[in-house]
Amino acid sequence: MMPGRCQPAQLQKFMDGLVLRNPGEREFHQAVYEVANTLLPYINRHPVYHELRILERMTEPDRMVSFRVSWQNDAGEIIVNRGFRVQMNNAIGPYKGGLRFSHTVTPSILKFLAFEQTFKNSLTGLPMGAGKGGANFNPKGKSPTEVMRFCQSFINELYRHIGPNLDVPAGDIGVGAREIGYMFGQYKRITGSFEGVLTGKGLEFGGSLIRTEATGYGVVLFLEHMLNEVGRNLSGLRISISGSGNVSLHAAERALQSGAIVQTLSDSRGCIHDPDGIDDEKLRWVRELKEVRRGRIAEYAERFASATYHADARPWMVPCDVALPCATQNEIDAGDARRLLEGGVTAVCEGANMPTELDAVSLLTDSGVMFGPAKAANAGGVAVSGLEMSQNSARLSWTLADMERQLEQIMSDIHGRCVEFGREDSDSIDYVAGANIAGFRKVAEAMLAFGVV
Ligand code: NDP
Repeated sequence: MMPGRCQPAQLQKFMDGLVLRNPGEREFHQAVYEVANTLLPYINRHPVYHELRILERMTEPDRMVSFRVSWQNDAGEIIVNRGFRVQMNNAIGPYKGGLRFSHTVTPSILKFLAFEQTFKNSLTGLPMGAGKGGANFNPKGKSPTEVMRFCQSFINELYRHIGPNLDVPAGDIGVGAREIGYMFGQYKRITGSFEGVLTGKGLEFGGSLIRTEATGYGVVLFLEHMLNEVGRNLSGLRISISGSGNVSLHAAERALQSGAIVQTLSDSRGCIHDPDGIDDEKLRWVRELKEVRRGRIAEYAERFASATYHADARPWMVPCDVALPCATQNEIDAGDARRLLEGGVTAVCEGANMPTELDAVSLLTDSGVMFGPAKAANAGGVAVSGLEMSQNSARLSWTLADMERQLEQIMSDIHGRCVEFGREDSDSIDYVAGANIAGFRKVAEAMLAFGVV
């Protein structure tokens, strides 16, 4: 069955209802629009999904909690932040999805992320429902003890809403192994129970090998499948990567292993361009800069003479073969898409969640650029989180070789599902439609089985 785009009137009616129910939530509207645009034609061919209002139900979270997080800074002042957890859909497994700590966190952003997670988790083939959460807490510039006190206070409330068979959060922007450790420690202290309630844990207390690397590695594995599908590979291709966090640096590492030339990185203040390529040694230096010294990417251009720094800029003006947006949402707009096209881009694969604005996606795909959407391309992280849950339940640890093999297989299967549901008349692949339809089907079938609940 061919994918397709929706009739404008039907899409408009669906979106009018959604906007009315969720006023002002721009990111959530954007994520639902992109999915509905490709799913409604499929739903029209399967009237039972329409009659039982499956998509309407999938766009309404099962529940969403919001709570006060009070904590004391090093100066003894009391700070009040707001924490959230969106429990979106648990039709195929416990709620599962990351926690984001950033001053930019809003209900709209968490609902868009939780909605995307529904499809992503389904695509992995593992039994995971979808959730997302976090707080409007900015960890930048906070001391380690302030971060610890915040995490403990956050869990003092969140603990009552999560559990290994209920909801299993993980990391996201601003939440790495350190924060997961603090939160797991506090959960264990409150409940007295050692259980797999968070993923991304340290290896010493139930974490899984390659969880840290999995999202970035998975993005490049997915990209390689896309290229192989048209008889190409990564060797010698010039790659522009945005961000310099977990996803970006592991995507860069894996791309280098496949012989690509990584030429850019960025952070929230600007980007660097190194025409000589960011090799393994330079990458190690960036990792130390970001993970240990918590410095700015601008320092790269001071350290390596081959590089230039561009303040307040994204890397999309640099000519490249492949773009990997790995920083944050809406970081490629229509102007960026035009610059990428002028620079000769042939593939874009999303490491971050929803980094490409809707009109930018259209510009790229209409020009024949291969486009790997986040819910498929960056699913490697949550897939390994799912495997961490299995290891915790079975009280065992798989080896590095086991984990690498399983990640490779899962990314290959996700690519296969996108191809199966995204192949067009012209024989090209619409990965956006393929990912949406393949992710939707499994959740929708489970919801049908449960009746109207
Ligand atoms: P990190 O916090 O490790 O890194 C985020 C990077 O993006 C940093 O370089 C940061 O710069 C930059 N950044 C953040 N906000 C902005 C902004 N507004 N403009 C420009 N740059 C920005 O996060 P992750 O690498 O974990 O996550 C990156 C993306 O990948 C997010 O969209 C996340 O949801 C998604 N993702 C992550 C997964 C994971 O396993 N970690 C799984 C699936 C998706 P600075 O240092 O200046 O803040």
